[in-house]
Amino acid sequence: MLPRILLAALLCASTLLAAPPGATPLSPPAPAKSLAPHVPANWKAGAATLKVTPQKMLWMAGYAARKKPAEGKVQELFAKALAIQDEQGNKLVFVTLDLIGVPQLMRRAVASVAEKQFKLPQANLVMNASHTHSGPSLRTTPLTEKDDQRARDAWEYTQKLQSDLVALIGKALTDMQPARLTWNKARCGFAMNRRRDYTLPPDHPNANKAPNPNGPVDHEVPALRVEAPDGTLKATLFGYACHNTSLGFYNWCGDYAGFAQEYLQEHRPGFTALFLMGCGGDQNPYPRRSDVVPGVTDLELSMQHGRSLSNAVEMALSVNPRAVAGPIRAAYEEIKLSYANNKRADHDYPVQVIKIGEDLTFITLGSEVVVDYSLRFKLEFAGEAGVWVAGYSNDYTGYMPSLRVLKEGGYEAAAGWAEDVEDRIAKKVHEMHDKL
Ligand SMILES: [Zn+2]
Repeated sequence: MLPRILLAALLCASTLLAAPPGATPLSPPAPAKSLAPHVPANWKAGAATLKVTPQKMLWMAGYAARKKPAEGKVQELFAKALAIQDEQGNKLVFVTLDLIGVPQLMRRAVASVAEKQFKLPQANLVMNASHTHSGPSLRTTPLTEKDDQRARDAWEYTQKLQSDLVALIGKALTDMQPARLTWNKARCGFAMNRRRDYTLPPDHPNANKAPNPNGPVDHEVPALRVEAPDGTLKATLFGYACHNTSLGFYNWCGDYAGFAQEYLQEHRPGFTALFLMGCGGDQNPYPRRSDVVPGVTDLELSMQHGRSLSNAVEMALSVNPRAVAGPIRAAYEEIKLSYANNKRADHDYPVQVIKIGEDLTFITLGSEVVVDYSLRFKLEFAGEAGVWVAGYSNDYTGYMPSLRVLKEGGYEAAAGWAEDVEDRIAKKVHEMHDKL
């Protein structure tokens, strides 16, 4: 073994020695160079960022067990917008939030005002939340006399956020400059299916143990690369399907997705990284809080997951870029979904399909979609160049189980949806996709 290591060390040294004269490890970074100069820079793209960290110590979202409001901040929370425009002038805007979810009323309000102000069709707006459990609680239902200060604060925050998001969209659209779009994907492995293994017989020793290392996961990390015509990286939109629940403390933080965005932006002035949450309804990051990792804090685990994800994004951004050519075609509909035995009123559930030419298809679904949806659509549309499925988009009304999860039961099935929800969603996705 030893000689081989020595040989490797020598090879490394000789590579260094072979560097061009004048090059030193401290030389400034090389000028920007496109990885795909053959791809025409015939897009326009713009990005905008807004700090949305609450000024007040509001109550936090995500864990019902919290007994007090936030006490501090370890990281700013951001809302970000990425606007792209094809050669025909069709626009598409992604708004991503380091927040628990996108309340449906907020989506509708923002989409409607953005349509009036910027002529942005409502179908061409995606609003997605990272589902961080270290952000503020939101409130979209109007206050009543009985509401306490906690509710008033949440309402005030949400109302301001709503108008700020419209302005943010405007800023990203105004920022649009000529751009080249490519995409690729990598993998990242810290998400694991957090449910128990329902396929095991009840008397099996692992029958009640979670997470389930054999359970379905979606480890893909798709990344859209937005660069200036000279190759300067301007923005990336990247995805992963996993709960942002590494942390359970009382500080504002974007969790692993917040750290991944921070690390990607760290040494790239003027660059914006946006996280698009995938179908992570039944996925948790591991190792996590309840697990035993000697000498490592929750926060360090969260940062490690963030680093691991940002590394995957770096890989997707730097290897074999695939061209993304227009035009943008988008469809958005709200379909009726029912609860079993009609125990609650039907819900208007948002389904959105966006095709970017023949290169990339986005399927975005509302609320906490389990991973089965992502795997299903990637399989069903496997003939296409790229299929990117995002949950947590345009609505936040709890879990959206697949038929499998509904039949198995458990936490993600507890809302009591009727058994045809997956079927209705899938039929609508196909219908919209085929029409585009
Ligand atoms: Zn959740």
